[in-house]
Amino acid sequence: MHQFINGSYREGNGGQHQLINPATGKSVETLNVADSADVDDAVAAAKAAFPGWSRATPAERSEALHSLAAELGKRAEELARIETEQTGKTLRMSTEFDVPGSIDNAQFFAGAARHLQGQAAGEYSAEHTSMVRREAVGVIGSISPWNYPLQMAAWKILPAIAAGNTIVLKPSELTPGTTLLMAEAARDAGIPDGVINVVVGAGRVVGEALVTHRDVAMSSFTGSTAVGRRIMELASRRGNRVHLELGGKAPFLVFDDADVEAAARGAVAASLINGGQDCTAATRAYIQRPLFDAFVERVAELMSQVTVGDPTDPETDMGSLISTTHRDRVAGFIDRARAGGANIVTGGVIPEGLPAEAAFYSPTLITGLAQDAEAVQDEIFGPVLTALPFDSDDEGLMLANDTPYGLAASAWTTDLARGMRASSDIQAGCVWINDHIPMLSEMPHGGYKASGFGKDMSSYSLEDYTNIKHVMIDRVGQPDKDWHGTVFRTRKQ
Ligand code: NAD
Repeated sequence: MHQFINGSYREGNGGQHQLINPATGKSVETLNVADSADVDDAVAAAKAAFPGWSRATPAERSEALHSLAAELGKRAEELARIETEQTGKTLRMSTEFDVPGSIDNAQFFAGAARHLQGQAAGEYSAEHTSMVRREAVGVIGSISPWNYPLQMAAWKILPAIAAGNTIVLKPSELTPGTTLLMAEAARDAGIPDGVINVVVGAGRVVGEALVTHRDVAMSSFTGSTAVGRRIMELASRRGNRVHLELGGKAPFLVFDDADVEAAARGAVAASLINGGQDCTAATRAYIQRPLFDAFVERVAELMSQVTVGDPTDPETDMGSLISTTHRDRVAGFIDRARAGGANIVTGGVIPEGLPAEAAFYSPTLITGLAQDAEAVQDEIFGPVLTALPFDSDDEGLMLANDTPYGLAASAWTTDLARGMRASSDIQAGCVWINDHIPMLSEMPHGGYKASGFGKDMSSYSLEDYTNIKHVMIDRVGQPDKDWHGTVFRTRKQ
């Protein structure tokens, strides 16, 4: 059963979809996907649950979220197994990164639920007292991608419900398992039926029905920039609020005083994490010319040592990509770069000795590309790093900013002033100095430019799921008010 509506599992009415394990190419199970009538039911359940949940005290919501964190902990092994089976990522990654990260998120939002901030109440006019209320928005319609299914579900669900909203989430139809399990864990944690609902189905059908539903007050989305723009367009028809976490093309800027070994190791880890299917992954390395050759040589050496294969084997470093369709899309970028004269320093092939129907691709480093090449400008979303040299600091920073995206970036230097300059001049929602990838529940994640707007994680995301209301109370108690002179010429003095 693959829909979770009003506290229980049920079948969808929208036909069938085969779920494939991309690391084997074999079918895992058959999904009965949702149709728009299932979306109606899920939204109705969320709408019915809203009055009760939005009026629960922060302490009650906090307690429920602490219980959810505990329920997720009880299911840690199952969550990791399903995450790996449906995405092809290593079990090591699911176990050590995805599951604990999501539990930590639940613990953070359990605390944050009790800590909404606002301006102090006071007499900003002598005749009135003003105060600010932060209120839940209503039913949130959320849509999440396949690369980190559990963490993306956590990033969408937790701040929304911590702030008193109810939610209907549509995960990617390729990877619904751990999102459904999270909804089940929430029910077992005592979160009331209808607060969290999950509908599984295709974006065009179920996703669009959710965004355009008359009872959905806000759409939050993580996924590609193209689909994000479609969601914005659909939401604009009803003037609804949107919260968009979109694609990325993170630069990795290495200045000539950097520690080359640290930068090379950082570049390999940050470009290959999750098979490179990470919106913040390092994708474009720019290296100041004196360090270029040493950096490229060391990155190629380290990439060639990465073991690609069975994601359940503890010896494996990188599992498969999400599907053979996506693998072929990634390979297409490399093939076109090669045909255009670029140098594939390492990788650029489907590794031998692995199942032909599985979606593996080798860690790939490319040099010799121009800044305007598609492999430098477009999101490949695979285990691919491009490396280009630069001369002056100004040029490096200019190149780092020269794509439509602005999600994340890093700068590598031992000079504090250079690091500080990079942190302010790079247009991205996150800039790391001498590292690239770590994230924290307490800190915001989100984009600039074509990478979207709105923040995930942190108290900023909690605020994103609230309406701000100004309440202004007359404290004089007279029928004639000072400002009435704008209308009553004969006003008494
Ligand atoms: P995608 O945009 O193809 O799909 C994302 C979700 O949208 C899926 O659930 C899909 O079914 C749904 N969808 C597709 N078409 C839709 C439509 N017309 N209406 C409504 N919903 C629709 O993205 P993907 O391939 O699943 O994920 C990869 C993308 O996600 C990359 O671009 C990556 O950078 C981005 N991403 C961004 C972040 C971030 O925090 N900024 C995090 C993870 C992934």
